[in-house]
Amino acid sequence: SPRLAGQYALVTGASSGIGAAIAIALAANGASVVVNYGHDTDGANATLKTITDAGGTGYIVQADVSKEDQVQAMFQQAVQHFGTLHIVVSNAGIQVDSPFVDMTLEQWQKVIDVNLTGQFLCVREAAREFLRRGPQPEVSKALGKIICMSSVHEVIPWAGHVNYATSKGGIMQLMKSTAQELAPHKIRVNSIGPGAIKTHINHDAWGTPEAEASLLKLIPYDRVGEPDDIGQLAAWLASDEADYITGQTIFMDGGMTLY
Ligand code: NAD
Repeated sequence: SPRLAGQYALVTGASSGIGAAIAIALAANGASVVVNYGHDTDGANATLKTITDAGGTGYIVQADVSKEDQVQAMFQQAVQHFGTLHIVVSNAGIQVDSPFVDMTLEQWQKVIDVNLTGQFLCVREAAREFLRRGPQPEVSKALGKIICMSSVHEVIPWAGHVNYATSKGGIMQLMKSTAQELAPHKIRVNSIGPGAIKTHINHDAWGTPEAEASLLKLIPYDRVGEPDDIGQLAAWLASDEADYITGQTIFMDGGMTLY
């Protein structure tokens, strides 16, 4: 049977890009998937259609991940619908760039609220649900698996990205601290650190042949990543094949972090 058979997953920001690819990959590996979106109903419907057209199972839940009441309501709805969760991928994120000296408090706060506080809320509700449900060793070796979405900017600075890079650096310590505290409960917490992946968040960086050519100079492996690259990694990292991995950021970047 598929390696995530019998498992229930929730993916935030699954209406586009990397989150959509992860939701689709988890479903292709046998998980039933809660497709979260913030405002893009059409995108969420498209993700669900791809999942169900391939014979998978999904369920759409709207929530702004930066709002505590909405995150708690989302987890309640997911558990009411599927009974429990085994995999939570905290993927939703935004980028609001500005030269540092011109950066407004609003631009700073918005990115911290969604990218960092949103991860705190989702990781906490995930751990609470795993502990409430208790072990199901016939379904998964771990009590639960949490994947945070970081970035190469967890370790590499980038001009105009101070708010974004700070949020991703914060996710690293949120991930490691929770991985350590939750490991005795057999909850695994890891991050994925994508490099340059073709989604609309960074369309400016690859949208024209000239932009793509200059981006490729930063990528030793000489291609831009596809959302499905990250989807495949997430499906493996959530499976029992990766049962001994916790507290790690796995960079998937075509070698970008080697420079
Ligand atoms: P994207 O813009 O397509 O996806 C982000 C998703 O998050 C969207 O579906 C958006 O609607 C959702 N979202 C935004 N704010 C939300 C909120 N408050 N509540 C719920 N959902 C919300 O871009 P993407 O590239 O797929 O980004 C996904 C994640 O990957 C982000 O965390 C991003 O930082 C990270 N990432 C992307 C790249 C890349 O090159 N594309 C590189 C490194 C990291």
